[in-house]
Amino acid sequence: RVRTRFAPSPTGYLHIGGARTALFSWLYARKHGGDFVLRVEDTDLARSNAESVNAILEGMNWLGLEYDEGPFYQTERFDRYKEVIQQLLDSGKAYYCYCTREELDVMREQQMALKQKPRYDGRCRTREEPRAGVDPVVRFKNPMDGVTVVDDMVRGRVTFQNTELDDLIIARSDGTPTYNLTVVVDDWDMGITHVIRGDDHLNNTPRQINILKALGVEPPRYAHLPMILGPDGAKLSKRHGAVSVMQYRDEGFLPEALLNYLVRLGWSCGDREIFSLDELIELFDIADVNHSASAINPEKLLWLNQHYIKTQSPDHVARHLSWHMGQRQIDPAGDPPLRDVVVAQRERAKTLDEMAGNSVYFFQEFEAYEDKAASKNLTADAKAVLEALVQELGRLDEWHAEPIHAVIETISAQLDVKMGKVAQPLRVAVTGGSVSPPIDQTLELLGRERSLQRLHRAIT
Ligand code: GLU
Repeated sequence: RVRTRFAPSPTGYLHIGGARTALFSWLYARKHGGDFVLRVEDTDLARSNAESVNAILEGMNWLGLEYDEGPFYQTERFDRYKEVIQQLLDSGKAYYCYCTREELDVMREQQMALKQKPRYDGRCRTREEPRAGVDPVVRFKNPMDGVTVVDDMVRGRVTFQNTELDDLIIARSDGTPTYNLTVVVDDWDMGITHVIRGDDHLNNTPRQINILKALGVEPPRYAHLPMILGPDGAKLSKRHGAVSVMQYRDEGFLPEALLNYLVRLGWSCGDREIFSLDELIELFDIADVNHSASAINPEKLLWLNQHYIKTQSPDHVARHLSWHMGQRQIDPAGDPPLRDVVVAQRERAKTLDEMAGNSVYFFQEFEAYEDKAASKNLTADAKAVLEALVQELGRLDEWHAEPIHAVIETISAQLDVKMGKVAQPLRVAVTGGSVSPPIDQTLELLGRERSLQRLHRAIT
């Protein structure tokens, strides 16, 4: 059974690179009817904190990347790591190293002087006695010759000379395990069959394979994903805009749009751009992942977001919009129903943040008219039109877009003014500004009472 995992270190927020790794691992598991495990790699106590664990869980949840097992926390597994370190020591696959900082520095300088790549030369491998006064680290006895081959599902065969991989520290002098050891133990214990992660870890992979072999464990398959770059081709950073998943939420993106965008950073399927999650599960193949890095493309994300705003169910969009209204201290629970606002607004908004900003007047009195809109549209002539409108609209039995529309047409004919000269003053009167959905719909959504009140406010 296929088992994949996402193993973030909780040292910040859920980065979009991490989210893409999680998505590919999730897709691989779903595609093969397997399990997706979440593991929090929190052994770096100085850099990990509960807040960023929550940020990661929140991001996963918002994206809808459900995990079948976990979250597991490495800090709860120290006993197990100690046990495996002891097992490696007992079987002669690891050894205590008593080299001091000074000794290592000298070794390094000598190697540099000889133009050799600095590496630990394994001098404690044969040490028989402990050295007094030094708390030793534990090093893994890496093979001294031959090669380690990583048969990567994305990059193909990558061969490492074992002489390049020196004897890695697997336990620090305080006894705590290091990253390569904990990952190996966890991937083994958690039965991970496919390790899908960023290619910044490719150099760790031969080390991890060698530790697994020393433990007599069959290594999993590996897939290393290419990096995500900024639009300028430089390493992605904050100066390129949002890098955390929750920042994308804050800016008004739908999770569907972000997922669709992320999957295309590094994977393609012909020239197709739009994929639902179900379609992705069907079409995704790790063999189709690009070998080279991909650059983010903010325009495309906006385009996808607009697509999903228009095509997802209004109720679904409304649930997300509701959060953005809340950010504006607006409780959208009453009238008009938020889903109806979505239907009226969805052709116009690129983001939910924008949609929320343009929908405030449905729920709250506006304080003042926009200057330009008012000076242009709330003129003395226009007020005469608005007075006629108040009369006619007040007589309507049914407050719906069609009869409202009919009233606007009638007034336009009666007063012999263009439709726009009726609709635009009306729009400014009821919304405070010059942009809204079609005016008949806008009035229907606002309801009779609110609409008439605002009309009175405009003419008095
Ligand atoms: N915790 C590592 C990181 O966040 C990932 C380890 C792995 O996927 O093997 O970079």
